Amino acid sequence: MLEDKNTQKTSLAELGEFGLINHITKYFKLQNPSSIKGIGDDAAVIDASEKQTLVTTDLLIEGVHFDLSYMPLKHLGYKAVMINLSDVYAMNGVAEQITVSIAVSNRFPLEAIEELYAGIQLACETYQVDLIGGDTTSSTKGMLISITAIGKAAKEDIVYRNTAKETDLIVVSGDLGAAYLGLQVLEREKQVFKVDPNNQPDLDNYTYLIERQLKPEARKDIAALLKELDIKPTSMIDISDGLSSEVMHICSQSKVGCKIYEDKLPLDPQVISTCEEFELDSTMVALSGGEDYELLFTVPIADFDKIKGNPNFSVVGHITAENQGLNLVTRAGQEIALKAQGWNALKDN
Ligand code: ADP
Ligand code: MG
Repeated sequence: MLEDKNTQKTSLAELGEFGLINHITKYFKLQNPSSIKGIGDDAAVIDASEKQTLVTTDLLIEGVHFDLSYMPLKHLGYKAVMINLSDVYAMNGVAEQITVSIAVSNRFPLEAIEELYAGIQLACETYQVDLIGGDTTSSTKGMLISITAIGKAAKEDIVYRNTAKETDLIVVSGDLGAAYLGLQVLEREKQVFKVDPNNQPDLDNYTYLIERQLKPEARKDIAALLKELDIKPTSMIDISDGLSSEVMHICSQSKVGCKIYEDKLPLDPQVISTCEEFELDSTMVALSGGEDYELLFTVPIADFDKIKGNPNFSVVGHITAENQGLNLVTRAGQEIALKAQGWNALKDN
């Protein structure tokens, strides 16, 4: 897992910038009619249509956002695309194009960049988005990846963060906390590997956690699911920093408060067992873990019957008046202030 199995090494200097761009982009095929011109000219051309355009960017830096000692490059490419698509889906939009800019040091051979782009390509094919451009440059140290995703949505379909209403239900898709725990497991194995490189880690009990960390899937399916149920969320955001901080964004922008119920938080059995093993509080992990890339949204209370019992969704609380603040109702029925701290706070504990 932690070894570099890449034996063949072609230096990037040998290939040159244009050789590299041609090489890494030649297998990408455009899939969307709105992608009029992709890679190859001074700028790509997108057909704007009558819809509104969604644009989102993320910058990932080696050592800050990813660690290549346990993150295979193919997974990194895939995940970097997911992070961006998730933001488009959180607006209730459809993602159609991405641009990818990379900076790499001469430590990386061509084969490493090929792996990265294999992951990007798999994401493009799976999610039907087109790679239409980017930029390639060198870095003095490490790798940087910046991806921009472009999507569209009809004006009336777009869902913002600032439109949650008092009494609305707060709903999350999927389950929470697994990606953070996957990172804890991988970090632990990295330390073990440093001491004894021959130690073969037994990761059978953590398969779901590691998959959620290394190969997250953006929730492209939720928009269609909600349409089927005839639900239009009143507000929505994707869960990249943990439920607490995302709820806080919705509440502060919508000028409302909230109540989240501890016993309603959706936890996978592996999250529960691994929290016990690591002596972590599963509620804390679900609230502040981050990198789940699930969607958090609010719906009118009248939609409760449409959503209850649906295995894709959990109603975790409701919106209150702003002056009631942001609260967590514990299993014991106690109300405590919700700490919106993001996953960095967990690191310090
Ligand atoms: P320019 O000199 O105009 O910036 P480049 O030589 O950087 O053009 O890029 C040539 C073409 O290749 C452009 O269409 C650009 O968008 C695309 N491109 C460059 N780098 C990448 C990359 N890392 N991934 C995808 N496309 C890229
Ligand atoms: Mg350029």
